[in-house]
Amino acid sequence: MLEELEALNDEARAELVEVADSEALRTWELAYIGRNGQVTGMLRRVGDLPPAQRPAFGQRANEVKNALQAAYGEREQAIKAAELAERLAAGALDVSLPGRPVLTGGLHPTTRMLRRFYEIWADMGFQVYRSRDVEDDMHNFELLNFPPHHPARDMQDTFFTTEKDVILRTHTSPGQIRAMREYYPEPIRVILPGMCYRHEQITARSEVQFNQVEGLAVGRNIRMTDLKGTIAEFARRMYGSDRQVRFRASYFPFTEPSMEVDVSCILCDGAGCRVCKYTGWLEIAGSGMVHPNVLRNGGYDPAVYTGFAFGMGPERMIMQKHGIEDIRYFWGNDLRFLQQF
Ligand SMILES: [Zn+2]
Repeated sequence: MLEELEALNDEARAELVEVADSEALRTWELAYIGRNGQVTGMLRRVGDLPPAQRPAFGQRANEVKNALQAAYGEREQAIKAAELAERLAAGALDVSLPGRPVLTGGLHPTTRMLRRFYEIWADMGFQVYRSRDVEDDMHNFELLNFPPHHPARDMQDTFFTTEKDVILRTHTSPGQIRAMREYYPEPIRVILPGMCYRHEQITARSEVQFNQVEGLAVGRNIRMTDLKGTIAEFARRMYGSDRQVRFRASYFPFTEPSMEVDVSCILCDGAGCRVCKYTGWLEIAGSGMVHPNVLRNGGYDPAVYTGFAFGMGPERMIMQKHGIEDIRYFWGNDLRFLQQF
């Protein structure tokens, strides 16, 4: 049996040299030194020998098994190293290749413009007041002094919902009523930014959604000169100190008197260009003194309080600034457009 053991030892060592990968190594281990391997089997058979031969055989068999285990360990290491080297070689990097650009996200142009608004108006003492996107007819129209048959109430302009009297706001102005009712009798200086919704044909000039930034100041002794000075100051901070600002009489139901605000064209500096339609002026806001009815509806007595309000369109201002002619780009999610900012 000792010769059998030595033969087995030689056979196992010869085979181990041939083992080339992890899988073959595992097979070898099971065949010789595993729990049901041949060398392990011989150790179990030590009882078959005459008692006098048992110690010598047992000792040798243990030696053989331990030596094979050590050899196995060495072979295992060598194979693992070889396999690792192979994997590394297969996935080799060419460090001389140019790097791939890392695409970082950017802020939407409207978001950037809105943040600029917040900065400028915060510096001028106006805080952001967030009103709701979903409104009722009362706040969106009636309390803002819209006469009952005003065209803006037409189905064409307003998104109605299946809920009775629940609509998407068509402008940020209903936030004026909500801010006044919340702050009364304190003086108010807020801007109300947010998305507005109109049930319109989507064209290069009109979208069903767009942002507005409403502004509202209410207090004692607020005059039209305050409105003009404030808007002119905003225009200079937004577009530079050499901007000319002009006011044109206009009409809005919720202000009286009402004015449109123009700045001298930021592209041609007033000389006339395609963007300003060769007028030299860009319209940046609608504005006016808060109508007494609106003040009253907000809880402020118009005999004591006065106020001014304005509304601006961040998307339209971006379009003016960059000469963009199609408002549909803003919500079209075309990266070629968005990545330019
Ligand atoms: Zn121009």
